[in-house]
Amino acid sequence: MTRIAFIGLGNMGGGMAARQVVGGREVYAFDLSEAAVKKAVGAGAHAAGSVAKAVEGADVVITMLPAGPNVRKVYDEHILPHAPKSALLIDCSTIDVESARAVAKQAKEAGFRFADAPVSGGTAAADAGTLAFMVGCEEKDFANVEETLKPMSRVTIRAGDHGAGQAAKICNNMLLGISMIGTCEAFALAERLGLAADRFFEIASKSSGQCWSLTTYSPWPGVGPQTPSDRNYEGGFAAGMMLKDLKLAQEAAAKAGATTPLGAQAEAIYALFDRLGFAGKDFSAVQQLLRGDLARLK
Ligand code: NAD
Repeated sequence: MTRIAFIGLGNMGGGMAARQVVGGREVYAFDLSEAAVKKAVGAGAHAAGSVAKAVEGADVVITMLPAGPNVRKVYDEHILPHAPKSALLIDCSTIDVESARAVAKQAKEAGFRFADAPVSGGTAAADAGTLAFMVGCEEKDFANVEETLKPMSRVTIRAGDHGAGQAAKICNNMLLGISMIGTCEAFALAERLGLAADRFFEIASKSSGQCWSLTTYSPWPGVGPQTPSDRNYEGGFAAGMMLKDLKLAQEAAAKAGATTPLGAQAEAIYALFDRLGFAGKDFSAVQQLLRGDLARLK
């Protein structure tokens, strides 16, 4: 049985680790949060008391951590010194391209195979095993990476060499941040114009305004499929995480000389939302800022 070390069992990693159990893999799980480990054990994983314990004898090591510094630290201090050299290392966190390339280089020099494989799809897709993975790895390793990710994935696409998965993710999430704000503005305007939200949803879902932020992840409560907006924007993809991704996109754009004015505007709006104290809410909660009704979020 394939033995997987799973590090980082938060909103995303918890569901992903559970999918690996369902897929018949033996999962050794670790997180700094005891509650998160307990939940993973409830889903059939083994609790590991540390990263070093989790990676002992692992065929694959999967990390799902908040940001670049967490990934660098966990790799440098715990994974590379303790995992068997034969282990395939896959980082699914969303981090900056530079960190992904630095970790890949360090892993390769230490004799490991590494892939950056960030995901798209949100917590519902993590729980259901229907995430989209965008992968940066050596071509020869891709089949192995794809096979490993199968219990968690709807689709896995190789973007290119190390770092390319993160580049794809940053571009995708900049587009997501912009489209979510656009969707929220449209709902807010519809309300002011006296248009019922469910009518607007049905019409725009079938018209040229259709997009994922509207149809699959409606920021307006009570319309469309169940989303975080239906539970006062709890869970899901935190606004603080979206801000992190938008910052990554702007930093990357500045370095690469790309022109991204709407990406910059989206970053400014999420920075304001963060400053107002709502970083922990789902990113679609920006609806209430743009509607002018932040009291609803308290
Ligand atoms: P989260 O904050 O819910 O989970 C991160 C987990 O990592 C936490 O449980 C934390 O305790 C753990 N952690 C931090 N440092 C650790 C360490 N040193 N050792 C072990 N565990 C450690 O975040 P999330 O929403 O699950 O997101 C994880 C990553 O996935 C982020 O990079 C995010 O940008 C990305 N992502 C999230 C979503 C989403 O919808 N939530 C969607 C796509 C991508």
